[in-house]
Amino acid sequence: MSDHHSIEERASALGGQDFTGSTAAAGLPAIILSDGPHGVRRQGRTGDNLGVYDSEPATCFPTGSAIASSWNPQLVREIGVALGREARALDVQVLLGPAVNLKRSPLGGRNFEYFSEDPLLAGVLGAEWVKGVQSQGVAASVKHFAVNNQETDRMRVSAEVDERTLRELYLAVFERIVTQATPWTVMSSYNAINGVYSSENRWLLTDLLRDEWGFDGLVVSDWGAIKDRVVALAAGLDLEMPSSNGAGTRDIVSAVREGRLGEDVVDASIERLRQLIERTAERGASFDIDAHHRLARRAAAESVVLLRNENSTLPLKPETKLAVLGALAVDPQFQGGGSSHVNPTRVDIPLEELRTAFGDVAFAPGYTSDGADEALLQEARRVAGDADVAIVFAGLWESEQSEGFDRVDLHLPPGQVELIQAVAAVAPRTVVVLANGGVVSLEPWHDSVDAIVEGWALGQAIGGAITDVLTGAANPSGRLAETIPVSLADTPSYFNFPGEQEAVRYGEGVFVGYRAHVTSGQGARYPFGHGLSYTTFDISDLSVEASGVDGAVVRVTVTNTGAVAGAEVVQVYVAPPASRVRRPARELGAFVKVTLEPGESRRIELELDRTAFRFWDARGHRWWVEPGGYGVEIGRSATDILARVDIELDGDTEAPPELTRTSTVKEFFAHPVVGPALMEGMLANATPEQREAAEAGADMLRMVDSMPMDQFARFPGVGLPEETLDMLIALSRQPAEV
Ligand code: BGC
Repeated sequence: MSDHHSIEERASALGGQDFTGSTAAAGLPAIILSDGPHGVRRQGRTGDNLGVYDSEPATCFPTGSAIASSWNPQLVREIGVALGREARALDVQVLLGPAVNLKRSPLGGRNFEYFSEDPLLAGVLGAEWVKGVQSQGVAASVKHFAVNNQETDRMRVSAEVDERTLRELYLAVFERIVTQATPWTVMSSYNAINGVYSSENRWLLTDLLRDEWGFDGLVVSDWGAIKDRVVALAAGLDLEMPSSNGAGTRDIVSAVREGRLGEDVVDASIERLRQLIERTAERGASFDIDAHHRLARRAAAESVVLLRNENSTLPLKPETKLAVLGALAVDPQFQGGGSSHVNPTRVDIPLEELRTAFGDVAFAPGYTSDGADEALLQEARRVAGDADVAIVFAGLWESEQSEGFDRVDLHLPPGQVELIQAVAAVAPRTVVVLANGGVVSLEPWHDSVDAIVEGWALGQAIGGAITDVLTGAANPSGRLAETIPVSLADTPSYFNFPGEQEAVRYGEGVFVGYRAHVTSGQGARYPFGHGLSYTTFDISDLSVEASGVDGAVVRVTVTNTGAVAGAEVVQVYVAPPASRVRRPARELGAFVKVTLEPGESRRIELELDRTAFRFWDARGHRWWVEPGGYGVEIGRSATDILARVDIELDGDTEAPPELTRTSTVKEFFAHPVVGPALMEGMLANATPEQREAAEAGADMLRMVDSMPMDQFARFPGVGLPEETLDMLIALSRQPAEV
């Protein structure tokens, strides 16, 4: 125990010493906590969390939005292992990632760091990231817990979210990672949730995280997120980062002295810090820069989503006469700004890599980072007109996608749409290669180009990876981890993002991303799950069997029917039965990526567990699987459904609800014991004709369905005596007969 150390020492161990180190005190050594998430940002003496100063060189892997598009958990695990190794080599004990907040709006400033709009995809990948990093004796820090879905006013804003939406979407990602991957730390977010700052939220940090999910690690604050150190510590926030110049320590010490805070609370946090130090005690490692660069290239190629490929424009034949247009081909953008910014060990320049593959490739910049330029546009037209295929590099500059602010629209920067359209007008074939950490609009130029390669923010191997995809050395297998809307106004959070007056209302509830589109029928430019390949796949013989009361086993045969090897992502969606709550028309329930040689066929088995069917019953404060018929669907995307099998699930069962005087007419009639008794009572003296008429007129009841029974009972013509009502209520409280 640490009790022989003074309270000052113990309190100071629970705070930072500088930007990245905790304080060595109370017999505990300092540990280093560095960003994260797509590379190690190990800073020397001039630390900052804004990404202003260069850090030690480290491999810059594809960012979250890119790697999530691989839909490949094994690949994310491999990257996790590599990141863990680099962290070890750079003497980092806690790597600040994965960043797993859901993409509520395509405008989210940190969407480039985040994985997906879907909690299953983000959760599965986040869990693999954690397992990979921690396999190297380095702690992960799952962030930002929770509901940090925007940058606007992020340090004050209160996310106003109903409980069901929190549970089913925003918290579900963390729940999966915490329960399946045992992260050693979690980072609390800056924002408040329903009025309570995450860092001071006892329900979030203790009741839910530790008591319900079984988290046994340490909670660290986001950098500078703590407003009241004592409230935060009592809520379950163990380590304050970075240094608060002794303020946090002083507050803890006074609170203990004045009896406002128990010493046991301090000691519990010290114990968690000690455990973290033990878990990350092994030191020393080296890493192979070339091998990690190769992994970054393979991962980047697998992150690319081929959105469009008319007339099999891609892959390019080796003898193709190419023209490359766009300054981004020589000044590639492959990550975003802010704390996650990595100082790469090297960078593959797309134009150079394409010249290595195709020999002489003409180039014109077409625009500058400052915008459109008429002379450059003219030159680009000329160069593109001479080629067989023109490749336009377009996308966002790093300055436009960063931590700290949200984007204001989905437009490409000035000059780029003009370039795409000018090139498409003169080139026989036009391919657009996009580099954008968050979604950009493909309007109004989409139809005028032959192929679109969505590269996201591909990391330092961008040039090689793009070349691999264009030549066919890598067969694209990425699928969208987020919807590309036709217009911003189509996105479900449109009216409530980013909020106002220090609050943001999550008015769309559980209808985030594709969940809205598949339910309302609103079209998207490209739906969640979409992505093309250079081969074709047949998915057939879907069979689904219920397993237990709340699970199912799905089997399907996948065949590569094309001429080259490739990978298909089998996506299983679940369509719920008519429900007592409003549910999305379908939700992703399971997925697997399958690599197949030409002609190869494989029978795949996927499991749907309880989480694929459940919803959060806010009234009962519990997860609930309703009995009934569920559709299990196989899709090439959330909207392209190939096959469906319906199954019956017994689901959860409960004693019939106890009725009260304010239970509705509908609830009375629906009650398995009271309902029939009530009907009998009401028809007791009816003639057969009246009975028939009453049964035929059952629909009439709908009008009064929602009426509290005690009001209905007094209605003229109903006249249900008080004693009868009391008797019926008593009947609902009797234990059900077996
Ligand atoms: C970010 C975190 C990051 C921390 C440390 C904060 O600004 O929100 O994601 O880990 O800084 O750099």
